[in-house]
Amino acid sequence: MKALVYTGPGHMEFLDVPDPQPRPGEVLIRVRLASICGVDLQSFRGRNSRVQPPAILGHEVVGTVVSVPDGCDGFVPGDRVAVDPLFPCGQCENCSQGRPNLCSHLGLLGTGGLPGVFAEYVSVPVGAIARCPEYVTNIGAILAEPLANAIHLLGMAQPDRDARIAVFGAGVQGILFLQIAHARGYSNIAVIDRNRQRLEIAELLGAEPAILHPRDGVEKVLNEWTRGRGVDVAIDAAGTAVARRLCASVVRAGGRIVLLGLRQPQRLTDVRHIVRRELDVRGSFGYTPADFAASLHAIAERLVYLDPWFRCMSLRDGLRAFTLAERRGSLLKTLLLP
Ligand SMILES: [Zn+2]
Ligand SMILES: [Zn+2]
Repeated sequence: MKALVYTGPGHMEFLDVPDPQPRPGEVLIRVRLASICGVDLQSFRGRNSRVQPPAILGHEVVGTVVSVPDGCDGFVPGDRVAVDPLFPCGQCENCSQGRPNLCSHLGLLGTGGLPGVFAEYVSVPVGAIARCPEYVTNIGAILAEPLANAIHLLGMAQPDRDARIAVFGAGVQGILFLQIAHARGYSNIAVIDRNRQRLEIAELLGAEPAILHPRDGVEKVLNEWTRGRGVDVAIDAAGTAVARRLCASVVRAGGRIVLLGLRQPQRLTDVRHIVRRELDVRGSFGYTPADFAASLHAIAERLVYLDPWFRCMSLRDGLRAFTLAERRGSLLKTLLLP
């Protein structure tokens, strides 16, 4: 088969590679559509310790079933499916305590030696696939994994019904969080970004206020918005030192900060803000199978919408697609067609 192969930091080649050989319990999927995620961009630049070249990256995928293992009666060849690309072991302490996203042996397609989805075919455990309803497009279903992350993030944020929430970063995660939170009845959501085009997307989708950093003065606007009180929950979906510092400065005493982004992993913030105002700081990592199921449901209900902000390219053009995806512009996601 043809595959886009990561051959070293900043390098991708479109190559002939052996077809995947499904192991017992695995189903062979023909990739219909894949998309580039932040994890892939990190791997592409050699910043993912779990990826060594040569490797096929990618974990966001919609495909059709080619063959199913013996004894599997839930699916037949031709079924169109979404794939949950996180594989918890199901046996470790975290798995048995209902936190499979923290599994000690967590596998992710396209990392840790598992061939990813930027190829014509991929082999995955049969338990990882879910049928796409006919009326859900491939472009809709490709959001299943990123939206599962946003749903998990909302679960970690645990806002009260009338909470004022500030989201730093109008990338895919920030925008999906905004939409799923709105759909679940949270109406007070501010979005902050330094990129005007992305902020416009957030504004179109209902962010109020949408704040351009640094022009608008984030602290001043949020201070007025909360009548001097501070926001109840601040979310760092940007992963930068600036966003974390602002999170700590705009949240109210006793409020909550949820960290999601990992772009500058070494930098936190002035801990005095956390200590003196007893802030609750927590991380949000991945998602659980229940979040993934909720994500598929939300997609089928058309609760999220990103279609105008996709760029679609051929897998053959993968290197260019990755380079374009690194530029943070008016488009949120790059899709790859095998
Ligand atoms: Zn992803
Ligand atoms: Zn486990």
